[in-house]
Amino acid sequence: VNDLKLDFLIPEGTMGSSIFLNGGDAFKILLDCGVIHYGNEIIVPQIPAGINQIFISHGHLDHCAALPFILKYGEPEIFGTPPTLSFIEYLLLDMWNLIKRCDLKCNMKLTDDDMQHFLRVFHKMKRPIEPYQSVNIENSLRFQYIPAGHILGACGMNLWLNDKSIVYTGDICTYNTNYLVPAARDYFIRNPDILISEATYGNKTEHIDSFSTANINLLNIIKQSIQDDAPTIIPAYALQRVEEVYVRLAREMHEGRIPKTPIYTDGRLATNVLRVFRKFTVPEYNVNPDLAMRVTQSDTLVDIFDDTFITSLNKTSILDKLQTINEGSGIFIVPAGSLQGGYSPLYLKEVAGNPKAHLILVGHQFPDTLGERIQQGKKTVALPGFDGRIDETNLECQVHTFHLSAHAHTGQLIDLVKFLNPKTVFFQHGTQRSINTMVSIRYGMDIIAFRPRETEIAMDDTSATGLNVLYLQQRQEALRLLSPRLADIFNKLLKDIDLTTIAKADVDNLVERTLEYQKDRERAKFRKSMQRVGSYVQSSKGNRPTSDPEWRRGRGSH
Ligand SMILES: [Zn+2]
Ligand SMILES: [Zn+2]
Repeated sequence: VNDLKLDFLIPEGTMGSSIFLNGGDAFKILLDCGVIHYGNEIIVPQIPAGINQIFISHGHLDHCAALPFILKYGEPEIFGTPPTLSFIEYLLLDMWNLIKRCDLKCNMKLTDDDMQHFLRVFHKMKRPIEPYQSVNIENSLRFQYIPAGHILGACGMNLWLNDKSIVYTGDICTYNTNYLVPAARDYFIRNPDILISEATYGNKTEHIDSFSTANINLLNIIKQSIQDDAPTIIPAYALQRVEEVYVRLAREMHEGRIPKTPIYTDGRLATNVLRVFRKFTVPEYNVNPDLAMRVTQSDTLVDIFDDTFITSLNKTSILDKLQTINEGSGIFIVPAGSLQGGYSPLYLKEVAGNPKAHLILVGHQFPDTLGERIQQGKKTVALPGFDGRIDETNLECQVHTFHLSAHAHTGQLIDLVKFLNPKTVFFQHGTQRSINTMVSIRYGMDIIAFRPRETEIAMDDTSATGLNVLYLQQRQEALRLLSPRLADIFNKLLKDIDLTTIAKADVDNLVERTLEYQKDRERAKFRKSMQRVGSYVQSSKGNRPTSDPEWRRGRGSH
């Protein structure tokens, strides 16, 4: 395929993934088909017509929720691992209910008929594929799922398109969580032509070990709430974050480190999702083998998905429960995750005035949601009650945030890129800042990092000069990000340079000369921030205490 075109359908700087691979007559495929979640709004991106295949990486809505809208106009094959395909059905039905109840707005129309049609076509066209299984599609395309360690069933992909090889990470996690083992990175294609990487935590150099720290802190809070006879509210449901909390809690209770306390979940979605977890908690899907054993051999150990551990509430039992919620300890795992729609705001309203109660937010809150406002420290919020009345409510309960979403952070992403050693790497699925950080890092001799909007350059202009100019633009942007003044100086110096013959060394030299204009203190600050990124580069190569020599050589000292 010589005329392969890449098109990132989700705007840069937003979480979500939907990538159009256009191989002309040979194939038209989508890698994921996510939507953008903003406040109480779902925004479906413009999807090109004539898609033949969709490869879904995992069941989160930002990777699959455009499906009902796509299937209105066509019948592409839909690939996914068995857990992913199960999650998709339940989550999309839930999304549709939220749209119907007007808890969610959407830029495209979705009717009951559309949803029935979606379910019919989805069942007809879904293609369950196991991890590592190699699939050929019409000679021109071969692909393979590789476990990504992000949620149950989540996979990245290897793709071979005649003469081009592509690795797509999906959402990827390279460390152990309570539930999953890390991504199977050894099985991704080495030296691919193109790597498409997520960059969610691309700007989180401090994220190391925070998953296990977050876990311990979270358990301590729950212990405290049990001692205080006070309730804990955990808004859900973004797949997996809750299960991460849940499996840990169940284990601690089973092994007697935490007193047995009722855990409640609510709604059909939670019950269905737990059923999928129960079914697929096996090592084949990158589940921690110890945990998988607990679930599959429940006669000798304990079935943590058993209802002795977790109670599903229905509409009437919720009302009863809410009456007495402040009278004892209990852990309530309730949708929606960002406290936007669902029952979680109602629960919160009941416990808001109880200074011993806890609200635990697990991970990233979507922009412009109640969850985000509370995370940012807002103490008075408008909360709906069961009677539909909305009141300004003071939050006297304790609010905590724990980042339990499983994404590789800056250093681990750098390691992954260096390990796979692609010719080109695109960073997407991140904030503007995290993408800026990831593209401004030097990965090695010949690896060039691109942002989504640079596909044209990446696919067409592979001349040395074109790449060097890009290299220059990336450093320019990194400088601008750190200080607009630095960027001005850089641009003045740039006026004397002939861009048609510029080399990488010239660019590095320009950066150095720019820094010369800065006061020593500011230069030190700049170097430190660049070095913080650089110091992770060598973390995979052993325990050398100094920062990467290659990095230092590049920076030089005048
Ligand atoms: Zn995602
Ligand atoms: Zn995800």
